[in-house]
Amino acid sequence: MSNEQVKSRIDQLTDQLNDYAHHYYVLDQPKVSDAEYDQLLRDLIDLEKNHPNLKREDSPSERIGGEPLDHFRKVQHDVPMLSLSNAFDSGELRDFDRRVQQGLGHETSYSCELKIDGLAVTLKYESGRFIQGATRGDGTTGEDITKNLKTIASIPLKLKEPVDIEVRGEAFMPKSSFNRLNKAKEANEEALFANPRNAAAGSLRQLDPKIAAKRHLDVFIYSVGKLTEKQLDSHQESLTYVSELGFKINDQAKHCNNIEEVVEFCEGWLEKRADLSYEIDGIVIKVDSLKDQQALGFTAKSPRWATAFKFPAEEVVTTLRDIVLSV
Ligand code: NAD
Repeated sequence: MSNEQVKSRIDQLTDQLNDYAHHYYVLDQPKVSDAEYDQLLRDLIDLEKNHPNLKREDSPSERIGGEPLDHFRKVQHDVPMLSLSNAFDSGELRDFDRRVQQGLGHETSYSCELKIDGLAVTLKYESGRFIQGATRGDGTTGEDITKNLKTIASIPLKLKEPVDIEVRGEAFMPKSSFNRLNKAKEANEEALFANPRNAAAGSLRQLDPKIAAKRHLDVFIYSVGKLTEKQLDSHQESLTYVSELGFKINDQAKHCNNIEEVVEFCEGWLEKRADLSYEIDGIVIKVDSLKDQQALGFTAKSPRWATAFKFPAEEVVTTLRDIVLSV
């Protein structure tokens, strides 16, 4: 390709992906499947790597999520809410492990968790009381959706200890709630939600909390955003701690001693995911030691100590087809 052709392809992909991201994150109405989006983004990243001077400032490869909606109060995150790098096969998982070991200069173990397909939320507690809940937004500024989050029964309004803490988790709509909701929408001849993720995001970004209350949403807490009063040494320990405080955590997390155990865990879930009562779109792999996490640090967009193993495209297509058939 000539320089001219590369520039025009980069421009086209940037505009197309920014449009898809706006529909996905801001309007909660995706235009294409996640697999298609991921493939186009990879094409763009490859071109940008070879032609860094042609990369645009508004490239989706530099951005996290979408801009917050104006009709909610905006919340500045004390600790940024980042995205995750991706691994699409076992080779890329092993590459991730190599980068981690190189960065640390020694081997390390991992915490593996289901990647729940919902939307990231952050919950702030003062003296054990829930004071604010927000979306990720663009990573630095989110939307205040406290009233809607209060309608989720598994979010404690008061913790078992009077601590100041911020936790992060995934709000989601269980498959059964999603099917019920779309059946009701169909009966009323209303537009259907494309998938449980969009239904959850759409429900939590309603101005009337009564609507969110009727949607039967749920949440799994997957990390501590900010905590000063207690020293924690590992990610698994922090999950146990938040569970003791009264938060709901996912019970399928597994500690893996090395990357081969991680690969086995990820491959195992390719089949088993269909049996879950909620949607997952991959597995999140995190370096377990918090000291090692700190040593590895972050890029502008994501932590170097974590990655998301994304399930292959056919699986996504099957899932989408199953959802369409089940409504
Ligand atoms: P991501 O979804 O790949 O990963 C980060 C998110 O994972 C976190 O913010 C959190 O919400 C979630 N998560 C779930 N379980 C978790 C756990 N146990 N630990 C940590 N995080 C957990 O990154 P992203 O930036 O939110 O989105 C990128 C993805 O969104 C793309 O890969 C694509 O699949 C999809 N997307 C699709 C379209 C489309 O048009 N279809 C557009 C934009 C983005």
